[in-house]
Order: sequence, then structure tokens, then C-alpha cells
Amino acid sequence: MRTFYIKLYSAIDINNKPVIDIENEPSVIENIRLLFWAANIDLNIKIGSSVPSPRSKSECESLLNDFKRDQSCGHVVISSFNYNPGFEAGELFDTNKRGLALVYFNSNFISGNIDRLVQTCAHEIGHMFNLSHKDVYKNSIADKKYTSAMDETDKRRIHEPAKSWDLARKDTDGYFRAPSEKIKNKLFPFNGAARYNLNNEPDSVVFPWQDVGFKWKDEVD
Ligand SMILES: [Zn+2]
Repeated sequence: MRTFYIKLYSAIDINNKPVIDIENEPSVIENIRLLFWAANIDLNIKIGSSVPSPRSKSECESLLNDFKRDQSCGHVVISSFNYNPGFEAGELFDTNKRGLALVYFNSNFISGNIDRLVQTCAHEIGHMFNLSHKDVYKNSIADKKYTSAMDETDKRRIHEPAKSWDLARKDTDGYFRAPSEKIKNKLFPFNGAARYNLNNEPDSVVFPWQDVGFKWKDEVD
């Protein structure tokens, strides 16, 4: 089983409080891990120290510069609101190296909901590992019929996660582990194409901070 490394940060909001107290919401890290585990990936997530909430592109650039010093993992910052209204719930900020992703806890979509936060973190981490919105590998018919973790929020085909897991299980590409009861009724799985790529693409393509940037630059959200 492949191991990927992520550091998750809460930003400090304008009232000097963390946007979310990740230590006291253990289901955040646990459920992101369980989603990747079901795709046969061991996701190692550490909690990083708090960072200032970026309010502009240049503040994001400055965060990215700090994170460049630690290229052992991808860095995911849970921030309050999107500095750029074009990005609904989150974005892969650094498309050249895939080292920094942002998730907006108080966006319209997440709006403080922990399950939606987890789903969005998994989606942005998927982009960090070079997964795309239309990640269709081979002829996995089922991919087109159910909602998966790399679908955009407004393109959901099925609204009951349990149904998506049933269809994901039938994907021919495999790399499927039965989901934990903790996630199967509230989170959407990775589809067969995404699971295949996570398990088979070379390190230089899937690991953050590689020279191979994001292959799907038109879809960074
Ligand atoms: Zn996306």
C-alpha cells in the first residue's frame, strides 16, 4: 500500500481564533484517512501549527513560500472565506508544484459542516495528487453513473453516498476496500479511475512538490 503525506492547518481568522480546532474534531482527520484507505492509500496526516488566514493572492503566495521549506508533504490550509469568489469551497493554489491547497470552511458549500469539510479536503488533496474532475481511466462505465470524490459539488449525480459506494465497488479498476461505517452514509468515494491513478501513477506524477505540476490546470477548484 502506498503512503502519502499531508499536513493540515487551521488558519487564524480575523478575531484571532482558529477557523476550526482540528485537535478537538478528530473525525476530520480520521474520515479523510478512511476515504483514502478505501482507495487503498495510506494517507498520513499531521496537524500543522496555525497560520494566518490568507486574504489575497499575495498572502497565499507568502504562505506557499513558507511551505516550500518542507517538501516532505502537501500542505492543506483550512481558511475561513475564499479570497477569490471564483473558488467555491476550495482550490489547489499551487498548480506548478501542487504543494498548497486551500479549503474554505465558511464558504456557501461547506458552511461549517464537518462532513462537507472532509469531502472538500479529500477533493483538494486528490488534486494535489494530480487527480482531475473527469478522471476516467479505461472504460469504467460506473464512473459516469455515480458521484465520486473528484466530482465538483454542483455535478453530483447521486445524492445518497451509500449508493455511490455500491457502484464504486463494481468499478473494474479495483483498488477498493469496503468503506468504514463511519463514512459510507455521508461521504462519496473515489471512482475507479482515481483509485487506479493513485495506486499506479509514478511518484513524480502524484507526490506534491514534483516538477510535474497539475496536469489539469483549467480545473483548480
Ligand atoms: Zn476540483
